[in-house]
Amino acid sequence: MIESIEVLKKLQSLKNKINESERYKECRKQDVQKKKDQIEAKRILSGEKHKEKISVQKEIDRKELDLKTDEGEISKFNVKLNTIKTNKEYTALCSEIGSKKADMSILEDGILNTMSRLEIVNKEYSELTENLKHEEESLKELIKSVDADVRETDIEIEKVQNDQKKYIDVLDEDFLYHYSRLSNIKGGKAVVAVMGNVCGGCFMNITAQTLNLLMGGKELVFCQSCSRILYLEEK
Ligand SMILES: [Zn+2]
Repeated sequence: MIESIEVLKKLQSLKNKINESERYKECRKQDVQKKKDQIEAKRILSGEKHKEKISVQKEIDRKELDLKTDEGEISKFNVKLNTIKTNKEYTALCSEIGSKKADMSILEDGILNTMSRLEIVNKEYSELTENLKHEEESLKELIKSVDADVRETDIEIEKVQNDQKKYIDVLDEDFLYHYSRLSNIKGGKAVVAVMGNVCGGCFMNITAQTLNLLMGGKELVFCQSCSRILYLEEK
């Protein structure tokens, strides 16, 4: 009887070991997913920066085109100046040229500002792509190390499963049935110690009758409150 309880305790500890290994594997896989998500966010950011880069460049092209148009118009005005007959017409045309030149000056300032902006955007974009490249390299390394960890953990799990089989083989079928059923519904805590007349699973007091059964050591004893399999913890 006591031997069977020892086997159940052993089985429980092996099962907990497997659960722990599974959790560890899950954690490592989540590390990879987290990194992938981070990279994806950066890739989106870099894509947006690339669009911004193109749009700023287009803005410069547009302004330069406007500037050329204005230059062309001023040349035409200058030609026209030579053919003008009246003073009034001359003054009007000069004022038109003046206002066109003022427009051009604003455009030129605008182009310079936009060029500075382009320089900043270019720098930001190349920093982002550089960082992305670096992150992708480090993801590859991470995947390699996680794959190795998972493989190693799988081998450990297999070893523990083989140990489990050895214990299951020597266990009474009835014991195994109760243990498996409880283990599944009690989160792996199917076999618990009784200490100071208290169940180690639900922390309720056990009855005198339960204690007597435990002392007798002839059968499986269950907690009347939580139904777990009990054993007396030796002091
Ligand atoms: Zn209990």
